[in-house]
Amino acid sequence: MIDPSTIFTTLESEVRGYSRNWPTVFDTAKGSWIRGEDGREYLDFFAGAGALNYGHNNDVLKRALLSYLADDGITHSLDMHTVAKRDFLTAFEENILRPRGLDYKVQFPGPTGTNAVEAALKLARKATGRESIISFTNAFHGMTLGALSVTGNSMKRAGAGVPLVHATPMPFDNYFDGVAEDFHWFSRVLDDSGSGLNRPAAVIVETIQGEGGVNVARPEWLRALADLCAERDILLIVDDVQMGCGRTGPFFSFEVAGITPDIVTLSKSIGGYGMPMALTLFKPELDIWAPGEHNGTFRGNNPAFVTARVALEQYWNDKQFEGDTLIKGSRVAEKLTTLADDFDGVSTRGRGLVQGLAFEQPDLATKVCSLAFDAGLLAETSGPSDQVVKLLPPLTISEDELDHGLSVLAEATARAFG
Ligand code: PMP
Repeated sequence: MIDPSTIFTTLESEVRGYSRNWPTVFDTAKGSWIRGEDGREYLDFFAGAGALNYGHNNDVLKRALLSYLADDGITHSLDMHTVAKRDFLTAFEENILRPRGLDYKVQFPGPTGTNAVEAALKLARKATGRESIISFTNAFHGMTLGALSVTGNSMKRAGAGVPLVHATPMPFDNYFDGVAEDFHWFSRVLDDSGSGLNRPAAVIVETIQGEGGVNVARPEWLRALADLCAERDILLIVDDVQMGCGRTGPFFSFEVAGITPDIVTLSKSIGGYGMPMALTLFKPELDIWAPGEHNGTFRGNNPAFVTARVALEQYWNDKQFEGDTLIKGSRVAEKLTTLADDFDGVSTRGRGLVQGLAFEQPDLATKVCSLAFDAGLLAETSGPSDQVVKLLPPLTISEDELDHGLSVLAEATARAFG
């Protein structure tokens, strides 16, 4: 007879991670709150690692989903044409692409962000006939062997062997402690036949590195990168899996820099309701796929198309939602700065509703998250040595909830220094 109280530790692999940070069994969730089976409520500053921008069990999305299922709407369809997919594509074109003057083809590469990255890398290699990719220090792009090759995290790459994609890591903006990196040496190396650098197919970049420690690239740095790529005929891939769907304010995080990447990846919150869904977007001239060349069983999550469509219609048909996120983000940033000023070796970083509290002293960020959890707040650490507390609340969170979470965080920080 199996003992259900130990099943997680006896049956589930040692690879489990979040369950160690937050040792409870979760049961239900609503809005910005998640509840354990013991009845304890936690304010959620984690939001499914950015997959729940519209909160848990959002009422508008839930109604649409329940009604779709009640009407026997199709759940699984590979890449067949369905009404749910048509409605999603129409809403995506009307609410997102057209108002921004963006001309992208849409690929459904599979259920996860990693799938979107994998398709982007493969397409860039096919389109240019070149193989290597430039990635960045502290980048995170996913766990399949291609996406892992462009992920700058040796812990995640441990034991995976020779990278599948030849990737050259470049310093991300401000990697050298505040020294602006202007691509000077990179241009030189690209132009120098003696440098040993293979001409790359693409550069893949996050505008803000979420997993890497909430490292914010300056818009001018992103523009310089985009210019460099355009001049040298190198494709620019922006991985917007975590920072897209309004996390930083605008729907696409690269809008702040006024750039138009050749390829964009989206996942996490695009499905709206925490259901798996991913998109790879690319300029029409890059649509060189042969029919059926890149497939996958789970490319047509129709219930996710339904909630994705309703989320776009509900939140993205005017600038209100974007503005609200920026207002809430400034409020969080202000309060975090006040908090950081009270302690030595603490600083802040972020944009919109992705904000970080960085600790110079080792292990402090982990301690703060653990104390915050005990006090009823979910927040995770990020960065190569887990030195940053990353705040990623649902974008639909109220100002009172934000204030409450920030006061729990302030108390946890004071206790950690205690
Ligand atoms: N790219 C980025 C920027 C991410 O943050 C993540 C996930 N944290 C991924 C790709 C991979 O997405 P998934 O976990 O859905 O495969």
